[in-house]
Amino acid sequence: MRKYDFLIVGCGLFGAVFAHEARAKGKSVLFLEKRSHIGGNIYSELQDDILVHKYGAHIFHTSNQRVWDYVNRFAEFNNFVNSPIANYRGEIYNMPFNMNTFSKMFGISTPTEAEAILREQRAEIQGEPKNLEEQAVSLVGREVYTKLIKGYTEKQWGRDCRDLPPFIIKRLPVRYTYDNNYFNDRYQGIPVDGYTALVEKLIEGCDVLLNTDFFSDREKFLSMANQCLYTGMIDAYFDYCCGKLGYRSLRFETETLDMPNFQGVAVVNYTEREIPYTRIIEHKHFAFGTQPKTVITREYPVAWEEGMEPYYPINDAQNNALFARYAALAEKEPDVLFGGRLAQYKYYDMDKCVEAALALCDQTL
Ligand code: FAD
Ligand code: UDP
Repeated sequence: MRKYDFLIVGCGLFGAVFAHEARAKGKSVLFLEKRSHIGGNIYSELQDDILVHKYGAHIFHTSNQRVWDYVNRFAEFNNFVNSPIANYRGEIYNMPFNMNTFSKMFGISTPTEAEAILREQRAEIQGEPKNLEEQAVSLVGREVYTKLIKGYTEKQWGRDCRDLPPFIIKRLPVRYTYDNNYFNDRYQGIPVDGYTALVEKLIEGCDVLLNTDFFSDREKFLSMANQCLYTGMIDAYFDYCCGKLGYRSLRFETETLDMPNFQGVAVVNYTEREIPYTRIIEHKHFAFGTQPKTVITREYPVAWEEGMEPYYPINDAQNNALFARYAALAEKEPDVLFGGRLAQYKYYDMDKCVEAALALCDQTL
């Protein structure tokens, strides 16, 4: 059998970028992908003529010029701007936290008024926030925390906000302007032909084996190439020898509705604890669709168990310490590179994933 230069385990965004650069250097690439399709979690497909983000809403955003120029070589991006809505017991608020949110919540209209209310509410937290609740209250005060953060976060992570690390919430913008753009980044959009088409372009010229789990015959697969890039779960690669890393999973419930417009926006977050899903996505709004029907997806967070998709790493101190032990083993593994969200146990957004893949190419190709 022919020997490839690279075996890439996992045909997600990280592997696809690495493969493209390897091909550009004249290397041959074989992908193994255990799912029935390419693209990993950014996979999108047509359903009732609407591009559906199969594994949850994916909005590309970046401030990195190299990354933006890079992805634009493989896809045309539309001008979608993410401006989600939060629904708390039927009360509607704009996200992220901005003057529209504060105006509705406090009945005020100027930044000075908003700042005064938040200054007073934040004062209950003295010193460095020790957990997510303290971090949230010190950012946006107790009232916003109670209505828009507490229920959503506890559903998402399956833990009390006092038992979660502060950093999870730090990435959400807090603004004293009437600006509903969820991201601060310079560039933002959705590929007009979908993410799957982008990945198809990236992996042109590579061989792909779908429905194939690396662990079904790892020695055989490793012998098929000179080097391997592994983008699956790092603890699985090392047979869980140091223990199991923690993940959160999700259940997606998708349905087509016989109406043109269900919720008037791409993303609505349900921030009360009692509703079991965290958000409803209406896919057509990512592409300004005018189809007669609409496709929606409810996203239910669930505890991860073996066999489920590990969507989110739980980057608390205990898991990060365990990951460090696996990372040390990975350093010593001959002819195997480790990259991507699962192998680096890192909640990468797509732009950070592309950046990391290009950095690995710079170092190794
Ligand atoms: P993955 O996409 O997970 O790819 C890894 C691949 O490896 C998978 O296809 C998997 O099946 C395969 N694999 C694993 N183990 C094996 C094995 N043993 N054998 C064979 N194949 C294997 N980012 C943004 O920038 N914007 C967003 O709006 C956004 N929203 C998100 C929403 C959700 C719900 C989630 C979960 C993520 C979101 N992301 C978003 C992050 C984005 O999905 C990631 O940055 C990106 O998918 C990471 O790519 P990857 O290649 O590292 O991992
Ligand atoms: N979050 C929240 N309410 C919301 C949206 C987000 O409390 O309406 C919190 C929640 O803890 C979440 C974190 O902010 O885990 C980060 O949100 P983001 O949308 O960046 O996370 P993603 O869904 O992309 O993982």
